[in-house]
Amino acid sequence: MEPSKVNELEQALTENALAFLRRSVEGIEGSPCNRDAEFAIVDLAVGVEVLLKARVLRHDWTLICADRAKKSEEQLERELLAGTAFTITPTSAVKYLAEEVGVDFKANGYDGRVEQVSKLRNRAVHFTLSQGPLPISVTVAYGRGLDFVLWFLGSEFRDSAPGRTANLVEDFIEDLTAVVGEINDFVVEREKSVAANIRAIERCLTCPRCDRRAVSFTERDPIRCAFCLWNPADGEIAAAEYVSEVLGTNQYRTVKGGEEWPVHECLSCGELAMVQGIEDLGEDPGDAGSLNCDGYVAPHWGCFSCRMSAGYPEVDRCSRCDQPTTQGGDDGTSICSECWAEVLKSD
Ligand SMILES: [Zn+2]
Ligand SMILES: [Zn+2]
Ligand SMILES: [Zn+2]
Repeated sequence: MEPSKVNELEQALTENALAFLRRSVEGIEGSPCNRDAEFAIVDLAVGVEVLLKARVLRHDWTLICADRAKKSEEQLERELLAGTAFTITPTSAVKYLAEEVGVDFKANGYDGRVEQVSKLRNRAVHFTLSQGPLPISVTVAYGRGLDFVLWFLGSEFRDSAPGRTANLVEDFIEDLTAVVGEINDFVVEREKSVAANIRAIERCLTCPRCDRRAVSFTERDPIRCAFCLWNPADGEIAAAEYVSEVLGTNQYRTVKGGEEWPVHECLSCGELAMVQGIEDLGEDPGDAGSLNCDGYVAPHWGCFSCRMSAGYPEVDRCSRCDQPTTQGGDDGTSICSECWAEVLKSD
């Protein structure tokens, strides 16, 4: 494609992205009902996606075509200009930008941010936001998405956007700074108002929605975040969300092999909600209730259904079938009761 055409296409994409982002910001301002917020989130996700593509295109226009390996350049160009090209996902765009353009998402603290926007969009589209008032977690997640846009526009478009889009970018950065500031103020206010509640939590986990250590994890109370009010429907859903968002385990990769999905059937309640490798719950190291005679051992297992937690000495993987178990054999290695029964039978 001729450089002038690439340039025009980048301008068109950037303008489109800004139009979606502007509509998004306008939709979220004031005190929106959930429906407005849902549209604003979808607009944000579309805006981010198009903006990423515009930046990839500036580097190498063929990269934004998902099926570029199968078609000639002429065909790709024709499809791209006609708007019928099958283009890459936001995740692929981030990958190209990091690997080929050298955009440092990680060093700037924006690693995973685009995926978070995609997830928020999915939640909005599948109307899990519609229950109750607009959750604080949504405002926080939306604010994080906008903050990403602000950084990306500032570092990748402000000084290098082509032609007339430079002014549009400049104006939008100014408006966006104000909105991001308002959301940040809102978050600070919220932090102040719930600080005492968060301090009062006995055993605390990081929240998968707002990223704060504000989820109480006690047998007495249901799983809930004191900051954003995350209130998962049940233990299985809570465990899955915690594992993918807080522990960063990717369910897709676990299916394809390599990684293990660390959620097991709970030894106490039987629900598929017992997580291996849970964070330190922040218990008092002087806790005399610990089963381990050597003193405090941070819990390694935690069930999001019955909120049972246990350290390694109490629960271990069976040395024979690898399932979690509380049982041990004669020689001190862990072995579950089923395996133990088979061992006895075969003797
Ligand atoms: Zn939260
Ligand atoms: Zn349980
Ligand atoms: Zn076993």
